[in-house]
Amino acid sequence: MVFTIMQGEKVIFMKNFFNSTRNQTLRSSVKGAILQGLAPDGGLYVCEDLGTSPIDLHTLLDLTYEEMAPIILSSLLPGFTKEELKTAVSNAYGNSFSTKEITPLQSVGNDYVLELFHGPTSAFKDVALQMLPQLMSLSLKEEPDKKVMILTATSGDTGKAALCGFQDVERTGIIVFYPKDGTSKIQQLQMETQEGKNTGVCALYGNFDDAQSQVKSFFQSLGKGEIAHDENLLFSSANSINIGRLAPQAVYYFYSYMQLVKQGKISLFDEVDFCVPTGNFGDILAGYYAKLLGLPVHKLIVASNANHVLTDFFQTGVYDRNRPFHKTLSPSMDILISSNLERLLYYMSGKNAPYISELMDSLNTKGSYEIKPELLTQLKELFYAGYSTDEECMQEIHHVFNTYGYVMDPHTAVGYHVMKEYQKQHNDHPCILLSTASPYKFSAQVYEAIEGTRPTVDEFELMELLSKRTNTSIPKNLAQLKTMPVLHDDIVTKEQLKDYVLSKTEQLLSK
Ligand SMILES: *Cc1c(COP(=O)(O)O)cnc(C)c1O
Repeated sequence: MVFTIMQGEKVIFMKNFFNSTRNQTLRSSVKGAILQGLAPDGGLYVCEDLGTSPIDLHTLLDLTYEEMAPIILSSLLPGFTKEELKTAVSNAYGNSFSTKEITPLQSVGNDYVLELFHGPTSAFKDVALQMLPQLMSLSLKEEPDKKVMILTATSGDTGKAALCGFQDVERTGIIVFYPKDGTSKIQQLQMETQEGKNTGVCALYGNFDDAQSQVKSFFQSLGKGEIAHDENLLFSSANSINIGRLAPQAVYYFYSYMQLVKQGKISLFDEVDFCVPTGNFGDILAGYYAKLLGLPVHKLIVASNANHVLTDFFQTGVYDRNRPFHKTLSPSMDILISSNLERLLYYMSGKNAPYISELMDSLNTKGSYEIKPELLTQLKELFYAGYSTDEECMQEIHHVFNTYGYVMDPHTAVGYHVMKEYQKQHNDHPCILLSTASPYKFSAQVYEAIEGTRPTVDEFELMELLSKRTNTSIPKNLAQLKTMPVLHDDIVTKEQLKDYVLSKTEQLLSK
C-alpha cells in the first residue's frame, strides 16, 4: 500500500489532522498529507481546525518575511515544530531570492503591487516551491526507507519552479509534464535546460487540463492500488493541490498587509482588498486561508483571462468546463479546471464532504456542477470575479507603463484590468494586486504592448530591448538561459504517460 504512512490509529488521536474534502474519515497527519499530495479518493487535504485560533496581528508588526513565515506556517501546518519551520524557511529563502524583502510591495498610483517574482525562476511559484521540498524532506525524516517521486503538470511556471526547488534534494525525484506548445518559449527553455540528476521534463500532446487530468488520474489509479511499484516509493505532487505548496502562499498576504501598516498607509485592523490573477485557484485560496487566520481581508478579487470559467461561476453558481479552451497571452491562467476551488467550497459549505463529493462527481462525469443559491450568496460576499481579454491586457500594460512608469507582465495586467473594473463600482478599500510573473518572461508581448510593434528578433534580444526601453534589469536566471544546453526533449501522448512515469522514475531514483 502506498498511502499507509501516518494513517490509521496513530492519527485518530491527533487534534490537528487533515482529511479529504470528499470524505472526512480519510485522515492523515500534515506530514502524510504533504508526502501524498492528493488524498487517495482524489479529494484535497484540508485541516478541520483551520481558523479556530486566529493569529494575533500585533505579534507580526515589524517582522521580516523570514520571521513572519514560521508563525503563519505553524498555524496552517500543525504537526511541524516552530524550530523545524524556522530552519525550513531560512533554507528556502535565505539566499535564493534577489530582494531581501522576498516579496516587495510597490506603489502604482493609488494601488499596491505585490511583486512575487523575485525568486530563482522569476515566477511567483518560487515562493511556495522553494518551501515545499523543505517540508517534504522534514516529512521524509520519519520514513527513513522511503523515496518520493514528484509528478507535476504545469501550464508554464510551476514546472520550472518545482524543478528548481527539488533539484538534487535527497531521496526525491521529479517529473514535470507541460502541454506541447502551451507555454512561452522562455518557459519551455527554462524547463528544457534544467540540471540535476533527479529531474525529468516531458512535453505532452494536449493542453494544460489534459496534462493535469492525466497526472491526477495516475494518482487515482495509485490510490486504488492499480499500479504496481516498490512499496518504499511514494508518488506525490508539487501542484497547489499539495497543502505544503499552498500554505507558504498565505505568508505574503500577511507580509504585504503589514508593509502597508508599517508605511502608515493603513492602521492595524483596517480592511484591504486583494486582486489575484487566477488559474488553479491556489494563490487566491491562500488569501482566503489568510482571512480565516484573522487577516482583515475585505474582498478577494478573482481575475481571469478569456478562459473565464471562474468569472461565470461566481456570477451564476454554475461551474461549467464545457467550453472552448483559449490560448491567451497569460498562459499560466489558461485553465478550465481550478482544482483548489474544491477547498473553498468545502469550508464555505460548512465542511460538507458528501456535498463536495457530489459536486466533484458531477464535474468528472458531466464537466459541470451547480452550487446551492445560499452558498453562492455567501461566496459573493467575499469574492468578486471578472476577466480581461488579451486586448485589454495589452492596453493595461501600455497604460500603466505610460502613466506610472511601471512594467507589468500579462498575468499581472489581467489582474490590473479586473481590479480597475471592480474599483469603478467600489473604491473604498486599498487594494493589493498580486504580481505573478516577471515581465521578462513575456518580453515580446510586453515590449509590443509598450511600443506598439514587435521587432522580429529572438527572445533574448527582446529582453535587451525591453530593458533599454523601460530602464529595468533582466533577471539573471533568464539572461543565462541563452547559453545553457537543452537537456530534456521527451514528448508523450496521454496514453503513454503512465509507462513513461514508471520507467523514468526508476531511472531517476536509481542515480
Ligand atoms: C500559476 C500562475 C498563476 C495562477 O495561480 P493559481 O494559484 O494557479 O491560481 C497566475 N500567474 C502566473 C504567472 C502563474 O504562474
